[in-house]
Amino acid sequence: MTIKCRSCNSSNTNCVFNSKNIHGHHYVSADKFTIYFCRHCHTYFLDNIEKQTKYYSRYYQPNYYQSNSFLTKILMYITFTLKKIRIQKHFKKPSSISILDIGCGQGEFLSFLPNNFKKYGVEINKTASKKISAYGIKIFTGDINTTNFGSTKFDCVTMWHVLEHLPRPQLTLKKINRLLKPGGVLLFSTPNSQSLGFKYGQKHYFHLDFPRHLFIPCQKSLAMLLKTSGFSKYKFSYPFYDFPLDLFWSLRHSLLKYLVYPFYPLFKLLSPETLLTTVYK
Ligand SMILES: [Zn+2]
Repeated sequence: MTIKCRSCNSSNTNCVFNSKNIHGHHYVSADKFTIYFCRHCHTYFLDNIEKQTKYYSRYYQPNYYQSNSFLTKILMYITFTLKKIRIQKHFKKPSSISILDIGCGQGEFLSFLPNNFKKYGVEINKTASKKISAYGIKIFTGDINTTNFGSTKFDCVTMWHVLEHLPRPQLTLKKINRLLKPGGVLLFSTPNSQSLGFKYGQKHYFHLDFPRHLFIPCQKSLAMLLKTSGFSKYKFSYPFYDFPLDLFWSLRHSLLKYLVYPFYPLFKLLSPETLLTTVYK
């Protein structure tokens, strides 16, 4: 049976390897999954697993959104600051930016932003979204693809490691295109299959996170996806500060670790383990 690519819908795909149910470097259960590769757009992806009944209740544990360790909070502070600067740099009048954060979790990023931002969030997890009201953020609980925003449009849309969780990325990007004001900007981060960690770590790649991640893109596949979603201007950057130990965990079963570990900061700086894509409307 031909398996169609989740990203570009091509039938030019093949099965590449099997993966266990992993979250980062933690094995969660004995469930196994077949990973496919699209020869057309170079996306690695899972078949229609999200259509299984109980997919969400089985693989999204109630504590999936919790991250309260001290180290996590420090890292969050650093990454949020850099992301905020990136957004403010784009606008001439950074004091009146309306921002929509898709998959906003418990509103961590939105509540970090200064109060002169007009803040909106979408979150599918009801438990997480209920905790946000205290911050004075306008929150929509539900799926981004079916949420009705009325006539509201946004200067900025953000999705931090969310797109790879969504079953139909093209549909979501098309919707974002309609939600952005002219001159607006979309910023989103994703894993990157064109990285040292994926090339040599394969099924141990830190950001596989199957089956919650439904696909792993690269620059080529994202460029094609953006083009078919109506965007023509974008750029890629490598947020080396995102997940500082990802490459370390990805290479833990590879011989390459004997070369990489002693010079880890250098390799981490040079290998684009994740991508930050900036898209201009
Ligand atoms: Zn494809």
